[in-house]
Amino acid sequence: MGKVIAVANQKGGVAKTTTAVNLGIGLAREGKKVLLVDTDPQGSLTASLGYMEPDEISITLANILTAVINEEAINPSEGVLHHEENIDIMPGNIELSALEVIMGNVMSRELILKDYIDLMREKYDFILIDCMPSLGMMTINALVAADSVLIPVQAAYLPVKGLQQLIKTVLMVKKRLNRELEIQGILLTMVDYRTNYAKDITTKLCETYGSRIAIFKTVIPMSVKAAETSAEGISIYSHCPKSKVAEAYRNLTQEVLKNEK
Ligand code: ADP
Ligand code: MG
Repeated sequence: MGKVIAVANQKGGVAKTTTAVNLGIGLAREGKKVLLVDTDPQGSLTASLGYMEPDEISITLANILTAVINEEAINPSEGVLHHEENIDIMPGNIELSALEVIMGNVMSRELILKDYIDLMREKYDFILIDCMPSLGMMTINALVAADSVLIPVQAAYLPVKGLQQLIKTVLMVKKRLNRELEIQGILLTMVDYRTNYAKDITTKLCETYGSRIAIFKTVIPMSVKAAETSAEGISIYSHCPKSKVAEAYRNLTQEVLKNEK
């Protein structure tokens, strides 16, 4: 049975998608079978893996979840795309936006994505769910479907308030809808080593949350290399294997694997 990790933060631009892609491909490079699920109507995960026009894809997560809502049978291979770096993708696009509205009005609305994910679990070692930048119904669905949540936090400023709200939502989902949900850890991203921010923020995060929530030892450095990869549709390991950011994502992969032992 696969492990399901939601990559979530209601703030945009904190490297959720970049982390989902490079952790996912990192795990695949360690021999794991990995599915990446794009739940963001912007389809950035889908686009950053080479499907540059997500809105042109005929079968996406929106179609699958519509089938779940209509209680139609789902073929597990339906709509799954394959990436050359040995991962599978369930793409997402703008249709998820309309679907999220529909989801709000159906019975057991928080469990729709879980139905699909549970169907896919046995085929994969890891399923990573890339969340959209909100705490709306789709993100709640991701938290309900997941075993754990990985929270990327951009190290440029201290987003205490946003983080508190996210953690509150996670705890609420855990209490009411998914008792097994754990916080995999907070991941500091886009750390600029030229400033002292990173150190200060790490210290502050540890002071504020360290006793209750795991914080990954690995931090992801700020690097234009990370931004370039999405335009090329490949991982950081293919784009620039010797870069610091590739090394960081390799270390993150090892930390996640270690958690499983
Ligand atoms: P999110 O999914 O949280 O919105 P993204 O992964 O799309 O965040 O990242 C936001 C932007 O920052 C993208 O343009 C991405 O290429 C860039 N980016 C991601 N990681 C890094 C990094 N380590 N250094 C510099 N830029 C990054
Ligand atoms: Mg994203």
